[in-house]
Order: sequence, then structure tokens, then C-alpha cells
Amino acid sequence: MHCPFCGNEDTQVKDSRITDDGSSVRRRRECGNCGGRFTTFERVQVREIFVKKSSGASRLFDRDKLLRSLNIAARKRPITEDQIEQLVNKIIREIASLGENEVPTSVIGTKVMAALRELDDVAYIRYTSVYSNFKDAKAFERFIKKHQDKKKAKPAASKKPKKA
Ligand SMILES: [Zn+2]
Repeated sequence: MHCPFCGNEDTQVKDSRITDDGSSVRRRRECGNCGGRFTTFERVQVREIFVKKSSGASRLFDRDKLLRSLNIAARKRPITEDQIEQLVNKIIREIASLGENEVPTSVIGTKVMAALRELDDVAYIRYTSVYSNFKDAKAFERFIKKHQDKKKAKPAASKKPKKA
């Protein structure tokens, strides 16, 4: 594995372990030349999936693109690299298990939002605001309100409704 910083071929594995969901091997590596440290993930290649955009165009599912968008949504949140990796793996497994050659972007977006909602509120709202491309602040407010109402409705289900 070449060093991403200096291109040197002599990099050493410092630590190697399987992610909690068992579908990736995570390796910490260090470059013998510049001392740069980086992480690699080894995973099984599932069959190729095509994504159908709302414009009708079809393109190969881009794992890195999904990973990037999740990293942006999770920025400065208490979410680990491993959690994001597992989330991506989970989504890919779900998409692959649909058994379709082509999956609409909306299906993937819905899956990502559902998974993020479980993981972290802020990351979920960030991702959704980019994904849904709200027309204006009002539309965004409505979404937040709906999200909060849904959250409130869950734990209150067993209790008597409180008067405001
Ligand atoms: Zn290096």
C-alpha cells in the first residue's frame, strides 16, 4: 500500500482489527519514509449496483461519494469512523439485498436518513437538509417541527399526554 502523503511503498500495518459488524477489516498504517499515518478498510466487493437518478440517468453506485456525504453530515459529532463505515456497509447490504440491478437515488436517500436518524440527530438533520434541498427556510422549519413531533410522540406513547 502506497503512502498517500509521499507515495513511498514502504508502509507498515500498526494495528489491524475487524469492525464491530464483522464486514470490514480496519488497518492503521504508518509510512516508513515520512511517518504519515493513515487508515485502510478491507471489505468484500458486492456486485455492482447502478443508481437511477431522478433525471433518469443511471450511474454506478459510488461508495466513496456516500462516505463523503456522511462524513460531512457527521462533522464534529460524536460519531466514529467505524460507525460511519458500518452505516455505509449496512446501507450497501440493504441495497444489494433488494436484488435489483438499478436502485433509485430516493431509495438510497431514504435508507441513509433512516440509519442516521437512529445514530445522531444533528447528522440526520444535516444530511436531510442537503438531500431534500429545501426551497426556503420555512420548508426547513416544517421539517424540523415534524421531526421533533415524531420524536416527542415516541416516548410519550406509554404516558398520559401532558397539557401544554
Ligand atoms: Zn510517506
